[in-house]
Amino acid sequence: ILQVSGLHKWFGPLHVLQGIDFSVAAGERVAIIGGSGSGKSTFLRCLNFMEMPTAGRIALDGTPLGRAVGKAAPGKPDEVRYPESELCRVRERVGMVFQQFNLFPHMTVLENAMEGLVTVKRMKKAEARERALRELDKVGLGGKTDVYPGRLSGGQQQRVAIARALAMEPEILLFDEPTSSLDPELVGEVLRVIRQLAEEGRTMLLVTHELGFAYHFATKVIFLADGVFHEVGTPDEVLKHPRQERTRAFLERFT
Ligand code: ATP
Ligand code: MG
Repeated sequence: ILQVSGLHKWFGPLHVLQGIDFSVAAGERVAIIGGSGSGKSTFLRCLNFMEMPTAGRIALDGTPLGRAVGKAAPGKPDEVRYPESELCRVRERVGMVFQQFNLFPHMTVLENAMEGLVTVKRMKKAEARERALRELDKVGLGGKTDVYPGRLSGGQQQRVAIARALAMEPEILLFDEPTSSLDPELVGEVLRVIRQLAEEGRTMLLVTHELGFAYHFATKVIFLADGVFHEVGTPDEVLKHPRQERTRAFLERFT
């Protein structure tokens, strides 16, 4: 579904992503692990253009996004421009769930889940409502639709955020440490929802420190370090039998 080649991201002098080649096929579930500040969030954010890649191409179904407008400097990669209309289409196809939920506090659970359908997809209110209710039901929050996020636990808020993402019917779901800001006793309910999505065969990328979950969840595990994919393989290869010393050192911190 998604192809990435030669992806670089600089923040000023900071070279966070240093040439990443990657692709996801339909039904794949990719877990991304790596140290704090290694660029995991930046990588996910580049995939739906919440962050603009500095260089490299991202393609959906083989069609490269944006238009190359020539080289910024000799020897440098092509500069790519992205029309806003195209970015909107990408963001509809690539959904995202954040560590901090990012719900609108002044909107009810139902209004939050409907928001993208009405503003981005321009769906009629009644239809959006129906679809949002369906997704809220699925994450076990059918009974909380008229409540404001501030009245919910972190686990419930995150499930609303997942329902909101699902309502857009994305082809790929990106999760950025979806359980990191939750109290330990609330982690399970969110992981259960993610596991349910896995069973449905959805295509997902998950940044996580829950290595036990990653082991069972993922079809592929990536260890990100020094701006590159240091090690890529099956959960068994990367998490149980890492070949790189660096990966081994990282994993030891969890045991
Ligand atoms: P964590 O595990 O703590 O979430 P991460 O792997 O997600 O870390 P990123 O958030 O992608 O790491 O950040 C990678 C590096 O880029 C960090 O050094 C960070 O300070 C820097 N960075 C991220 N966003 C910006 C920004 N908007 N402007 C400048 N620097 C940034
Ligand atoms: Mg992060």
